[in-house]
Amino acid sequence: YANGPRTLREFVETTWAFGDQPFLISGERVVSYGEFFAAASSLARRLTESYGLRPGERAALAMRNHPEWQIAFWAVQLAGLVAVPLNTWWTEGEFGYALDDCEPTVLLVDAEQLPKVADRGRKAGARFVVFHGEGALPAGAEWYADLPEPDPAAAPPEVEIRPEDDATIIYTSGTTGRPKGAVATHLAQAGAALNPRYQAAASALGRGVVPGQGPAPVTLMTFPFFHVAAFTSLYAAMASGGTLVLMPKWDAGEALRLIGRHGVTHYAGVPATALQLLAAAERAGDGLEGLKGLNTGGAAAPPDLVARLTAQHGERIEPRNGYGLTETSGGVLANFGAAYRAYPDSAGTPTPVTEVRIAGPAGEALPDGETGELWLRGQSLVRGYWRDEAATAEAFTGGWFRTGDLAVVRDGRVAVVDRIKDMVIRGGENVYCVEVEAALHDHPEVEDAAVLGVPHPVLGEEVAAVVRVRPGSVVTAEALRAHVGRNLAAFKVPAHVLVTRKPLPRNATGKILKRELRGALQEYGREGEGEV
Ligand code: ATP
Repeated sequence: YANGPRTLREFVETTWAFGDQPFLISGERVVSYGEFFAAASSLARRLTESYGLRPGERAALAMRNHPEWQIAFWAVQLAGLVAVPLNTWWTEGEFGYALDDCEPTVLLVDAEQLPKVADRGRKAGARFVVFHGEGALPAGAEWYADLPEPDPAAAPPEVEIRPEDDATIIYTSGTTGRPKGAVATHLAQAGAALNPRYQAAASALGRGVVPGQGPAPVTLMTFPFFHVAAFTSLYAAMASGGTLVLMPKWDAGEALRLIGRHGVTHYAGVPATALQLLAAAERAGDGLEGLKGLNTGGAAAPPDLVARLTAQHGERIEPRNGYGLTETSGGVLANFGAAYRAYPDSAGTPTPVTEVRIAGPAGEALPDGETGELWLRGQSLVRGYWRDEAATAEAFTGGWFRTGDLAVVRDGRVAVVDRIKDMVIRGGENVYCVEVEAALHDHPEVEDAAVLGVPHPVLGEEVAAVVRVRPGSVVTAEALRAHVGRNLAAFKVPAHVLVTRKPLPRNATGKILKRELRGALQEYGREGEGEV
């Protein structure tokens, strides 16, 4: 792929070739590649010619997964603006923080998100493009602008876009602190667009998705478009003329229905929803007959996901889990196929454009088998954080990005051990939450589990767990501790176990919000039962 695209504009222009093939399916709507490109070109012309927006200005997007999300994003790229996808789960205050930070001159939103961004956007003098999405447009919205009628003859505007220009600012999830705007150049995003091709070429069942080698995949897209994990699946589809079936709202039963109705071949989403899908299929007596691949990413997949998949469907459906961050513009390590079944707790192997270093305390490369910080280098890396030189200098060094994840390489595969900030240091001993969580998950009555450190006067930190048990279960905290103690050393056994029957709080990519659990542990005492 040495001659691959070097800007997102070049990349999207290659999708022209797919003409009438369906790109986006949403409810009853089917948008072909040709219609999509015409609509994006028309909107790009409106942004540059009618609104007078200039390359480098920021365009913020706040929409659920509607086809307009993609039309707007690619229009922004064709216009040479910098796209800022915003998290639709945010509150008005969180939106305000990001809008103040990136100072967009145009906001592309659906009617549902509009009330959360309207005041701030108006004060800043930004333009609005409001799409119908869901719900009615508020009356008297004088800045309303509907999607222009696509003109099939309209070419995208002529603007110069260089590989080193900024293409996107994507905010990190903020799981461990305030979200930071990670800035990717066109070259970085073009690199990210190539990653899934490399991965597909390396995967047995994935081979069908390489252009010219088989039918294009039909993917049920359940990642929210604003998250980098969605970009990996999006680029994979666009590179092969594939179809994305959209779900503006997650619902496992509806997902099952869509899979049957549209002949879905691949599922893309976070591990938490993949587990719900498998449970729904089991209840319904299946419905996944046409599925060839179950692609998860954005968060670690519990090892029982692949065990459950294999128990229900044998080896017919290829499992895949991608590791990536906002700062790597999506998936850069992948675990798939037979190797995934053999090493279910691994994050897999890097794509050919990604280099891995397990770094010691001074940044030196550690040998295989030793645990250190995972550093990554490669074309898809962002260039830094938006207007935050201090945070950029801290995280990027000599071309490497320090992920903040602890990892170890075994048998040529990277295993993510924990996030450095989550690791519990109990009296000088390191306890990796991921390991203890896996031991808890292994108990048949456990549905979900989170392990975290709580302050201790002598040890510094002590291990605590919040465990969601299956409905009707009477398992006690003591029994759960004994279960962990049979598999792990005594110092890793949670001293405090809070049992709950409610879902654990998670963010948009399914990561457990440990900050919220800390509060719950205090409220209910550190042991016993409680609602989280
Ligand atoms: P913030 O940096 O603001 O706290 P965040 O790091 O959660 O947010 P993301 O970029 O969405 O923001 O998430 C990246 C992190 O997600 C990785 O550092 C890693 O801890 C975790 N992760 C993603 N995919 C996987 C995976 N396949 N296996 C294990 N962990 C994963």
